[in-house]
Amino acid sequence: MYMKNYRITLLRGDGIGPEIVAEALKVLDAAGEKFQFRLEYTDALMGGCAIDATGQPLPDETVEACRAADAVLLGAVGGYKWDTLPGHLRPEAGLLGIRSALGLFANLRPAKIYGPLKGACPLRPDIIGDSMDIMVVRELTGGIYFGKRGRETVNGMEAAYDTEYYTTAEVERIAHVAFNSARKRGKKVTNVDKANVLESSRLWRETVLRVAEGYPDVELNHLYIDNAAMQLVRNPKQFDVILASNIFGDILSDEASQVAGSIGMLASASMGGGKLGLYEPIHGSAPDIAGQGIANPLATILSAAMLLRYSLDEEAAADAIETAVEKVLDQGLRTPDILAGDGIRVGTVEMGDAVVKAL
Ligand code: NAD
Repeated sequence: MYMKNYRITLLRGDGIGPEIVAEALKVLDAAGEKFQFRLEYTDALMGGCAIDATGQPLPDETVEACRAADAVLLGAVGGYKWDTLPGHLRPEAGLLGIRSALGLFANLRPAKIYGPLKGACPLRPDIIGDSMDIMVVRELTGGIYFGKRGRETVNGMEAAYDTEYYTTAEVERIAHVAFNSARKRGKKVTNVDKANVLESSRLWRETVLRVAEGYPDVELNHLYIDNAAMQLVRNPKQFDVILASNIFGDILSDEASQVAGSIGMLASASMGGGKLGLYEPIHGSAPDIAGQGIANPLATILSAAMLLRYSLDEEAAADAIETAVEKVLDQGLRTPDILAGDGIRVGTVEMGDAVVKAL
């Protein structure tokens, strides 16, 4: 029978990276068997492991291997060993480098509370209700983090500035990502800006309104960033997709992940203009627990589900993985980071095996 073939480049990285990626691959392969597709993996070096092998956090061959793939799955990079290197030679420089080399301008971060893990949410149970499921869509390569910056002396005093700067094309493409993402979810976009004060926000909002005309099936509302930060802890259930600039999205996505509670559970995707995307857990390489077999692989497994949905259009397989993760949580299985009460303690490999079985 005809089988679809996809090429995945793996950046296993440092610390717990290789341990959690190994579990995600087991789950991906099981999903491929069930849904009739085959995944071909190519390993490439990025981060500390690349520095050790080549002297560079992001070797050229790695960029080429990522460009040649249908999608990239990343564990995490960094660790104590490389902490004293200069900035451009540190493992994290590889992360920024690969995002820009692949033109990944959209960051998608789901912040979801799974019913059985409600206890990990710092908000009162009556505020989150049965569940919370938000997708933050953040612009990743423009705005104040990349705008004109400098220092000068004014009246004998030192001064510094950074510039929030967006073109309509930059806003249009990220808005399309948000509206398309909403179409696959709750069909609602909340645009976040500061249009009451900032000219760049006024252009941002005008552009979002124009793009919205092409998505009459998606509801759109607007919040100023200060109000949005407040609403996220006051009534998070009102949100489906949040659309924000680089700096506002940076802040809101961290706030949303804190509301969701468990860092070992949260996935992310970075997308460019085409289907190629980079998928990774939001947590780091956790050097404090590396090699102990206790890291939570679920954020990486859920990142693999996003990879199937957004880069390979294998929607049914993605749904099945997410359902399998919910099932193992319902069964009470917990790695130590999410263990509470009468949960059943399991290690990294057992958790991966349980998800495969639930699939
Ligand atoms: P971290 O996310 O690695 O760890 C923070 C805490 O959460 C630690 O106690 C860790 O044990 C725990 N934790 C994280 N992921 C876990 C998981 N899957 N299961 C169980 N526990 C988990 O953040 P940090 O300690 O600030 O950074 C460690 C290293 O990771 C640094 O070198 C940092 O630069 C790097 N980092 C990399 C990325 C990335 O690769 N995208 C992101 C953030 C930090």
